[in-house]
Amino acid sequence: MGKHYVKIRSIEKVTHDTLSIITDKPENYTFRPGQATNIAIDRKGWEEEKRPFTFSSLPEDDFVEFIIKTYPEHDGTTDKLLHVKAGENLILFDVFGSIDYRGEGVFIAGGSGVTPFIAILRDLRKKKQIGNNKLIFANKTRDDIILKKELEEMLGDNFVNILSEEKVNGYAHGFVTEEFLREEVGESAGYVYLCGPPMMMMTVEGYLRDMNVNEDRIVKEVF
Ligand SMILES: Cc1cc2nc3c(=O)[nH]c(=O)nc-3n(C[C@H](O)[C@H](O)[C@H](O)COP(=O)(O)OP(=O)(O)OC[C@H]3O[C@@H](n4cnc5c(N)ncnc54)[C@H](O)[C@@H]3O)c2cc1C
Repeated sequence: MGKHYVKIRSIEKVTHDTLSIITDKPENYTFRPGQATNIAIDRKGWEEEKRPFTFSSLPEDDFVEFIIKTYPEHDGTTDKLLHVKAGENLILFDVFGSIDYRGEGVFIAGGSGVTPFIAILRDLRKKKQIGNNKLIFANKTRDDIILKKELEEMLGDNFVNILSEEKVNGYAHGFVTEEFLREEVGESAGYVYLCGPPMMMMTVEGYLRDMNVNEDRIVKEVF
């Protein structure tokens, strides 16, 4: 199995609890936008603590970027990453992941579940193929929205935010419901890309079934 030690070039917060980590790229390391790898921290006692994270950089970049939501309350790898500095090493492993871009559609993300879609959308932007793709992004509050500005610039009105714990003008409020999905996904014949925490995935998949969205139009990964 591949094991690649890479130096961290930069590590900075992009929201109150989310980091952008840019590292060197291992030689001959390839992936598709939407794919992930396991990461461990090259510090004593942490080298075997592997956790999955998605590439948010593009395959052709000469660096690798990860966008990582941190959970200090888990006392795990993401908490440790809050204390890691540029110049230290991360360990990257093999590439995997089931989310691939198949064609235009609606992306539905909960929290850090947006990361595979960031890579896919950045790739489409570069190829000038953003088209009519839409992103529905569910978060607790406005401050939790990862890469808000970039996503607004990429998607314009096709960037739809829904906040469960904050009522703000111009943002939908509450959890993603079937009514909300009927309005936002509608009868679109395109693909539905889904990524988020298990509970959200289960509920949204149920709604999509009720809406007669065919299984083979759903591309998903549980975070
Ligand atoms: C394919 C894939 C790709 C992913 N890509 C990304 C990505 O790009 N960016 C991103 O931010 N996330 C991503 N995730 C999610 C990410 O992997 C997890 O958030 C991460 O593994 C959490 O690691 P951790 O060590 O901080 O905590 P964990 O490994 O979740 O937990 C560490 C310990 O904390 C305890 N614990 C667990 N939950 C709680 C809780 N609620 N309260 C208290 N203690 C708890 C557990 O007992 C565990 O032993 C991805 C997940 C998958 C499956």
